[in-house]
Amino acid sequence: MSRILIAARTNPEGFATLFRAELPEHEVVTTLPDDGAPTPYVVVGLPPPGLLASRTGLEVIVSTNAGVEQLLASGEVPDGVPVVRMVDPGLRAGMVEWVAGRVLSWHRNLFAYLDQQAEGHWAQLPEVLAAERIVTVLGAGALGGPVATMLASLGFVVRTWSRTPRTVPGCTGFAGRDALDDAVASADVLVNLLPATAQTIDLIDHGLLSRMRSGGLLVNAGRGSAVVDADLLCALDDGSLGAAALDVFRQEPLPADHPFWRHPRIFITPHSAAITHPRTSVAVMAETIRRHERGEPLVNVVDRARGY
Ligand code: NAP
Repeated sequence: MSRILIAARTNPEGFATLFRAELPEHEVVTTLPDDGAPTPYVVVGLPPPGLLASRTGLEVIVSTNAGVEQLLASGEVPDGVPVVRMVDPGLRAGMVEWVAGRVLSWHRNLFAYLDQQAEGHWAQLPEVLAAERIVTVLGAGALGGPVATMLASLGFVVRTWSRTPRTVPGCTGFAGRDALDDAVASADVLVNLLPATAQTIDLIDHGLLSRMRSGGLLVNAGRGSAVVDADLLCALDDGSLGAAALDVFRQEPLPADHPFWRHPRIFITPHSAAITHPRTSVAVMAETIRRHERGEPLVNVVDRARGY
């Protein structure tokens, strides 16, 4: 009876109940009995200090998050133990909806009409066809790929940018650092869905934002570390950017005195774009454990050297 420790910070008992239904032959616990028995599986987002390093018989770390930079940086992950990151239909659906909401709100002038409504002002603004707008999606992975597909299905001209060449149907793919400027050139909307790594930190600076068509929209649901905050404010103030919809920040929660809170062209959500839904995610995590026990290769294993 292999043991699964659920160390998720949010709703561990909810996750445990679903795991017990999926894997009734396993022992599912939310706190470890003091019996020294091996714990081959730990389900965790950000582990409390000592949780992983001290486990005996640890075989697989199952991350409740898609982004694993904090897990890797914790220094808790023992060498040689695979980390499987979260790739599931609930997360994908959440991200597709959230980005659709931001891009369409900006594209159809909702942000500007809210300002007009506040003043009781009736005036039609110019409406542009989606086919006349270029959207660049940074990241073409489990989330960036479906987001790009959704945007293309709405009629936008969509480009993706990834580390290695990726094909997303209906989109033009760019790959590698040297292709970044071309991927962003004249874009109306820039959507960031990159992981936080040494290569993606500070990637979105004033120089990159200036490559876009002036007055455009930045959408960041990847990680806050990709954006140089001061450069974003500067680009909004000098008009090279029109608005920003931000879900992720360098420091979370966003500090109360951060200028983003009060900027009239910045729209903030509290890292809620795509949350891990227990019902969809437990089915995926249980399948990871079944695969491991069948001796099959795991999927969505984090490459620690790459950092994602
Ligand atoms: P993923 O499947 O690993 O995809 C990552 C994409 O980024 C891949 O296309 C990858 O290129 C590309 N990439 C990585 N490093 C790059 C670099 N240096 N240059 C160019 N492209 C690079 O990850 P995912 O599941 O789509 O998730 C992406 C990120 O979304 C997560 O890491 C997390 O930070 C964020 N996220 C946010 C929320 C939220 O609620 N806001 C929720 C979930 C996830 P290759 O295809 O060549 O590998």
